[in-house]
Amino acid sequence: MRTVKQRVQGVIFDLDNTLLRSRRGALRALKSASEMIHEHLAKQGYVYGKAELLRQLRLIDQFMLGKKRLYNRDVWWKTLLRELGLSHLSGTWVHQTTLHYWKIYAAESPPFKDAEPTLKVFKKAGFKIGVVSDSDGTPGMKRKRIRLQSFRTLLETIVVAGEDTPKVKPSKTPFMLVARRLGLNPKNCVYVGDNPRTDIDGAKAAGMVMIRVRRDGNNMGHPDYEVRSLREVQPLIFNLRS
Ligand SMILES: [Mg+2]
Repeated sequence: MRTVKQRVQGVIFDLDNTLLRSRRGALRALKSASEMIHEHLAKQGYVYGKAELLRQLRLIDQFMLGKKRLYNRDVWWKTLLRELGLSHLSGTWVHQTTLHYWKIYAAESPPFKDAEPTLKVFKKAGFKIGVVSDSDGTPGMKRKRIRLQSFRTLLETIVVAGEDTPKVKPSKTPFMLVARRLGLNPKNCVYVGDNPRTDIDGAKAAGMVMIRVRRDGNNMGHPDYEVRSLREVQPLIFNLRS
């Protein structure tokens, strides 16, 4: 971990698992999707156990979010159908399942308790605040989810990587874009995120200071700093600014 001392003017956040408690929402949404798929298949005369469908979907979820970075849930459900040898059953209901999934995901992923208070502290102290988050794979969905949050008014700009930029994180382009929109040099920005796969390399390549919020043992990669909660980000950034 290096020591970084540079004038911080902007604080930029990741969304899921950084500001929002999304792990629970993701799991409940996947379970609900598996139930929808179960019902649809049963209507067509194909009976699969709900638990088995959920188990297979969890493997697809891990693969798509991890190695593949493929966020379009329509593709996830179609992958399941293909694995079951049921690709011919694909239809408009597949996208309906995706919309239902995001509805549950959004409803079941509340902000961490210290999210809004932390943003308010930074806002009051004169920092510019932004969000850089990857597309949900369904255009417009991520922005819609952010706009549901009561802290949205504290954000000066939202960059949805993969929609506002051609590439998703960890490409450095969404980080360059957010700095440009805030009118700041990326070197004067801090990025706060949780995911070692997506949140560290791009932010650092753009020149930002990277602070990882440690959630459930995500300890790969080399952030500049590591904290256990958003509340701990506050003294760190005030110290960097001084
Ligand atoms: Mg995240």
